[in-house]
Amino acid sequence: MTGFDVDFFVIGAGSGGTRAARIAASHGASVMIAEEFRIGGTCVIRGCVPKKLYVYASRFADDFEDAAGFGWHVASATFDWQKLVAAKEQEISRLSGIYRANLLKAGVDIVESRATVLGPHEVQLIQNGRKLRARHILVATGAAPDLGVNCSGHELAISSNEIFDLPQQPERLLIIGGGYIAVEFASLMARLGSKVTLAFRAEAVLRGFDVDMREGLTEALLAAGVELRAGRMPHSLQRAEGAIAASFGDGSMADYDQVLLATGRRPQTLGLGLETCGIKLGHNGQIPVDAHAATSCPSVHAVGDVTDRINLTPVAIREGHVLADHLFGGSTVAVDHNLVPSAVFTTPEIGTVGLSEAAARIAHPDLDVYVAAFRPMRATLSGRAEKTILKLVVDAPSQRVLGLHVLGADAGEMAQLVAIAMKMRASKVDFDATMALHPTAAEELVTMRQPTRRYRQGELI
Ligand code: NDP
Repeated sequence: MTGFDVDFFVIGAGSGGTRAARIAASHGASVMIAEEFRIGGTCVIRGCVPKKLYVYASRFADDFEDAAGFGWHVASATFDWQKLVAAKEQEISRLSGIYRANLLKAGVDIVESRATVLGPHEVQLIQNGRKLRARHILVATGAAPDLGVNCSGHELAISSNEIFDLPQQPERLLIIGGGYIAVEFASLMARLGSKVTLAFRAEAVLRGFDVDMREGLTEALLAAGVELRAGRMPHSLQRAEGAIAASFGDGSMADYDQVLLATGRRPQTLGLGLETCGIKLGHNGQIPVDAHAATSCPSVHAVGDVTDRINLTPVAIREGHVLADHLFGGSTVAVDHNLVPSAVFTTPEIGTVGLSEAAARIAHPDLDVYVAAFRPMRATLSGRAEKTILKLVVDAPSQRVLGLHVLGADAGEMAQLVAIAMKMRASKVDFDATMALHPTAAEELVTMRQPTRRYRQGELI
């Protein structure tokens, strides 16, 4: 090492940054990682992990109700928000500690400070002003809630950063937005007992998802007691006595205890000093990178949500890992961003991989679409009005499975496993040749014989 204080300086100890730092260190690089908040990043501290814990908490509400159909008598159950918040805090502190311990075990130097870039090989720790020279710099600063929605008084609202730690559970909760965060919180908060209103600008939630999933989830949200205001965004929020008063475009008004803004996230690049390296940001503030996570400045790299490509934890982890192998392990492998499975943790949840029916129609004129919609077995005795929907989108000439979409219990688990088959280019013939596992919901995936819809030359036949 000549003239550099470290081989690799990582800004941001979230999913992508910590993985890159650890793997770089394992290749023998000297590594320093800077974090201004808590080790673990959005996913561990105020994203996927606490969200899933709250989803588990919320599902007990259904379990208690459903138990009666199976012969149980459950005395009236009560829920303690503060207890959940405290238990969540304990778990994410434990996980953050593990992330820290793993970094230290790998020999990574951790600095608890904001860091900025001063030039292609120079960074500064804001806490003490120290300047360091690094052979390579990685920006892995993630994204933050975008609060710039066109609604006066929006500063009265909270974001997903704050909702986990509210001192009181809101009785009346308005959620603005119709994406991942909005529907996940609508579903879970309604089950925990809040009266939830979901207001979004589109005609249906989850733009870009398969239409059957969007429709099925809409029904499920309504069944959970969520009030849906499609295409009816609030245009103002005002402090009212002990509440926040929202005025909607249709002239209606309503009071809420809390308002959650869930209208997307923006890459955290403000004030990072990237202009000192000549890096031009994209329209959303993201850092443009090539297949090897390099920016237009060869010594500066970026991974994860700050690049605004596929904003999911496992993608950031893979990008960080592959980058470290590339810079310090001699690997030339690039990340494959195709067929990334994802889930929406509503109840029931959505699991998906590959193309929606609408997206498939753009590039594949001849399609077979298989849809199975049925009442899950558990609902027969519980009496719950719930639907499971499984869908396969298949390219007719090659029989290749292009898309899997599931709305139902454990849909995320199904999507993860089917993603392996799809990555191996499985065809519908392979699905048909696979023996069913009975009685499961997933068995429908290998027993659907007749297409529900066929498109030939782009036309529905
Ligand atoms: P999403 O991109 O999922 O959804 C944003 C929502 O906000 C959409 O309904 C969008 O409407 C709406 N919106 C955006 N701008 C405006 C505006 N100016 N006025 C009104 N409405 C607006 O973002 P989220 O914040 O929910 O989540 C951020 C990202 O985090 C996700 O994209 C995902 O990558 C990740 N995430 C993943 C999860 C998972 O894997 N389970 C869970 C949570 C987050 P429209 O559709 O009309 O554009």
